[in-house]
Amino acid sequence: MRFNQRARIVHSDAGEGEDAPRDSRQDAGATVWQTQEMHRLTLGDFELTVFSDGTYPLDGGAFFGVIPKIMWSKKVAADERNYVIAGLNSLLVRTGKHTVLVETGMGNKLSDRMKKFYLQPAKLLENLSGAGVAPEDIDIVINSHLHFDHCGWNTVRNRNGNIVPTFPRAKYYAPEGEWQYARKPSERDAISYIPENYDPLVASGQMILLKGGEEIVPGISVKTFRGHTASMQGIIVRGGQSPHPFDKLRAGSVAKDATRVGHPPDSFYVPTACYISDLIPTTAHIDVTWGMGFDLYPLDTIESKKEYYARALPEKWLTVFTHDPNVPWAYIEKDESGKMVAKEAE
Ligand SMILES: [Zn+2]
Repeated sequence: MRFNQRARIVHSDAGEGEDAPRDSRQDAGATVWQTQEMHRLTLGDFELTVFSDGTYPLDGGAFFGVIPKIMWSKKVAADERNYVIAGLNSLLVRTGKHTVLVETGMGNKLSDRMKKFYLQPAKLLENLSGAGVAPEDIDIVINSHLHFDHCGWNTVRNRNGNIVPTFPRAKYYAPEGEWQYARKPSERDAISYIPENYDPLVASGQMILLKGGEEIVPGISVKTFRGHTASMQGIIVRGGQSPHPFDKLRAGSVAKDATRVGHPPDSFYVPTACYISDLIPTTAHIDVTWGMGFDLYPLDTIESKKEYYARALPEKWLTVFTHDPNVPWAYIEKDESGKMVAKEAE
């Protein structure tokens, strides 16, 4: 199934006189974000669906770090202000026993100043509800890290101005190292942490802090990948012993598939997906050296990507991309020349 999320920035002439992108929502009648079709697949015994909190403009230079524009602009289009479109993809996993939401987007509590930059699309609840998922249905919420664009819908401000959990029945999980760091972040990324997204949940005991490596429910575990931050965790989903989705996708032609040479028989496969978060934010970032300017530890990003690929490529993991506005998940492979390529799961 195709996830056809169209995004366009419409510039209104009502400029704000600041170096922020103009708020395209001021342009009456503009279709800015629209999720036209959903992306859903079966991973063994689990059902996986991508839900978007919308898209937002992000400085292309910041998004691609030291990669020259002449290279990244071949993959991603930028507007005249050098902004590219970034997505906010959450992953919903139905295990049969639990309904698990991985990541909660940007939310709706940005300051006015941050809204000018990021526009705050705030589409996640709408998109969940459109698929019949109510906030009360969520049993578990997992945050890969605590930057504002990954845990924004953890909480909402109610009518009385109090911060309350958006998903009232859910147990929330986040990396403990992230939370410790977020209490005293560096000047460099302090703006990325909004304590209302997690502090009230930690205080009430509704958020459980993870060391890294824990299995949260059978089949869903976390693993620390250092680089973007010190404690960011990937969320690994292992969907049981059913046939691997890759086999289903290529039904009939598996035996001829050269990439499978040397692989164990199908019965050894556990179909696996990984929400790798900001380690590989989009399909344009799959090369090991294409890190984001935001990464606090860029050399560790490279090592963590290598570590991830060492498992994900031979085992054909489905990689879920947190910020790709067009391709929310894909199988990453190496082509004959050794270049990383993303094969979209259709
Ligand atoms: Zn981040």
